[in-house]
Amino acid sequence: MNIILLGPPGAGKGTQAQRLVERHGMRQLSTGDMLRAAVKAGTPVGLQAKAVMERGELVSDEIVSAIIGDELDSMGPDAGAIFDGYPRTEAQAAALDKILAERARSLDHVIELDVDEDALVERITGRFSCATCGKGYHDTFERPRDPDSCDKCGGTEFKRRPDDNEETVRTRLAEYRTKTAPILPIYEKRGIVRRVNGMADMDDVTRLIEGIVAS
Ligand code: ADP
Ligand code: ADP
Ligand code: ZN
Repeated sequence: MNIILLGPPGAGKGTQAQRLVERHGMRQLSTGDMLRAAVKAGTPVGLQAKAVMERGELVSDEIVSAIIGDELDSMGPDAGAIFDGYPRTEAQAAALDKILAERARSLDHVIELDVDEDALVERITGRFSCATCGKGYHDTFERPRDPDSCDKCGGTEFKRRPDDNEETVRTRLAEYRTKTAPILPIYEKRGIVRRVNGMADMDDVTRLIEGIVAS
């Protein structure tokens, strides 16, 4: 199974991808996570991407499509893939078609998380994650049971993203509207888009997605 989770920053892509990984053993391919790892490691890709990400703009299509191809190659052919935050432009959507075809994979569903933009700034400015295992949390909507340790791994360090501030979020939302939303019709024409109410409670969103994945 190969699915795309599509939606603006803060829509819940990462949250739902982590849940699919836990329930179905699928792999989450998050270009954002991969780019942040490259920035941290100081690789050539990371050096190129750092300032662009801090501004909330999109990293080049060539870079992200190359890292997606490499990541797929590191997986077994039978492992399911959840594309989280990729593709984000028409060029990336075309690249993904080619990348999948070359690996005898095909897209099953494009799950669009439909959200009110007004809610996204609060979601993003309250977001944090476990520094050890990466589990996502929120100051209001998903706090760890013990405020000082991660529910999943017991880690005691949490981190926040430098681009999760209100000003950068505005740029990221504009990038989504102008460059990413226009890719939806490509998939609508193929009849594989499934729209999910991303404003529902996290567990309800998960149930809706489970229904799609099981269908
Ligand atoms: P994305 O990967 O699409 O940018 P995340 O999954 O990181 O979004 O979610 C952004 C923030 O909003 C996180 O802190 C997460 O805990 C929270 N969140 C995710 N889904 C919901 C939801 N359905 N209701 C309320 N908060 C949510
Ligand atoms: P969010 O979960 O909030 O949507 P991501 O973690 O997916 O954010 O992405 C963070 C940043 O990484 C983006 O603002 C962009 O600079 C870069 N990035 C991630 N994925 C892509 C992509 N597919 N194409 C271009 N840039 C990307
Ligand atoms: Zn953890």
